[in-house]
Amino acid sequence: MSQEDLLKKMSNVPEPTLRRLPWYLSNAKLLKQRGERYVSSTQISKEINIDSSQIAKDLSYVHISGRTRVGYEIDQLIDVLEDFLGFTKIHKAFLFGVGNLGGALLQDSGLSQFGLEIVAAFDINPLLVGTRMNGIPIYSTDEFEQRLAECQVQIGVLTVPIEIAQQITDRMVQGGLRAIWNFTPFRIRVPEEIVVQNTSLYAHLALMFNRLTAYNQSE
Ligand code: NAD
Repeated sequence: MSQEDLLKKMSNVPEPTLRRLPWYLSNAKLLKQRGERYVSSTQISKEINIDSSQIAKDLSYVHISGRTRVGYEIDQLIDVLEDFLGFTKIHKAFLFGVGNLGGALLQDSGLSQFGLEIVAAFDINPLLVGTRMNGIPIYSTDEFEQRLAECQVQIGVLTVPIEIAQQITDRMVQGGLRAIWNFTPFRIRVPEEIVVQNTSLYAHLALMFNRLTAYNQSE
């Protein structure tokens, strides 16, 4: 599927559905590992605790139809979801800031299963520059523009200290990167055409604490 077709398809899909589709994919892979050939929305529903009619509705966006009583063929479901979510295409990325978080992302080989390949990282720490982590080369931030000219990269992963988040963002945009996966708590400013995805591991903590308190109080 071309990038344009993919964008057209995905832009019609509600965001909550897009967030749930990767769960269905992981679940289908797990069931495949267990030797299953078919899966129904009721089965997925039991595994991940989402209403089965919601699952069937979500899956209708990816144009896969299940067979009455047996459900979806797992191999086909995996292929269709991976293709739809853009995970079959590898998106190359540069990472800025190889500290605790950046280092952990470099170590995470699982990212490539979701279509993201970090091909190089940049830092200013002389102890890191010139080394490799999980096989990924770490260069001086000064080398960014030169390295970008050598490979087709569109995505920047931002894991630098908050104080320099905007400065590094500006440099990434100036260099020609088109999307930024921002892990810093700073609300970076970018031109309209640049895609920004803010991600926080802490975002749901308050929700968890809140539910836990409610649960403890109800006992
Ligand atoms: P860290 O101090 O361990 O790492 C920061 C790294 O950035 C260091 O290696 C440092 O040398 C490097 N750096 C400094 N200036 C740079 C430059 N000009 N170019 C490239 N690299 C440079 O910090 P950390 O704990 O890994 O956190 C990094 C960022 O991620 C912070 O902004 C933090 O708030 C954020 N963070 C977010 C989450 C989340 O859930 N989104 C979780 C943890 C940390």
